[in-house]
Amino acid sequence: MERLTLHEVEALAHKEIPVLIPFGSVEEHGPHLPLATDVYTIYRVAEMASREIPLLVAPPVYYGLCRSTADHPGTISIRGTVLRALTLDILSAFYRQGFKKFLLLSGHAGGTHMAFILDAAEEFQGLKDDVVMVVASIIDLIKDCALDLIETPDDSHAGEWETSMIQYFYPELVKGKGKAEYPKFPKFQVVRNKKRYWPGGVWGDPGKASPEKGQILAERLAEKIILLAKELEEEV
Ligand SMILES: [Zn+2]
Repeated sequence: MERLTLHEVEALAHKEIPVLIPFGSVEEHGPHLPLATDVYTIYRVAEMASREIPLLVAPPVYYGLCRSTADHPGTISIRGTVLRALTLDILSAFYRQGFKKFLLLSGHAGGTHMAFILDAAEEFQGLKDDVVMVVASIIDLIKDCALDLIETPDDSHAGEWETSMIQYFYPELVKGKGKAEYPKFPKFQVVRNKKRYWPGGVWGDPGKASPEKGQILAERLAEKIILLAKELEEEV
């Protein structure tokens, strides 16, 4: 979308084509992956899907809510209330222009982060009778269509799947190999010194990553997005 002109967007609004809003985070991703990893993965996969079907990929929301990495250098988190308000404002602005189908897909999969996006989507859907929406994190999508590709159990952050995808999309941004790590936070505690429990900033095993795996993952995810967008078209 960011490369289009007003008349081009106007024509797409007129056809009510689905809008995909990519959400990410500015967050540490171990010693080997860039801070915007969560933006890059979902944005690039969204672009792949948009080459196959009518789908407007909005400029990504770079900042997100990061809890467990909040103390690591490079993590710039925003409040959930801000993320919720921002999501509502973006949805309202698209709706004013005539768009009614939305995919809110996040490369950052934190539970609290996703809850605020979902809450905004629920509120917006409650306000507008003619809106249909999908909300999912990239991990939700992987679990649904590509879990068989991931060898590492409980691989979630800067590990096998994320490293594979950045190796595929941006090999020049991968700085060596991160070490496998499985942090254990004290259960139920709102942890104050988070780095103490998660020194390396990796959750999973980047050693199992490969660009080939990243390519297959990206293709499967793009197919999944195409399917979700088609389902939205049928909903209306
Ligand atoms: Zn990530």
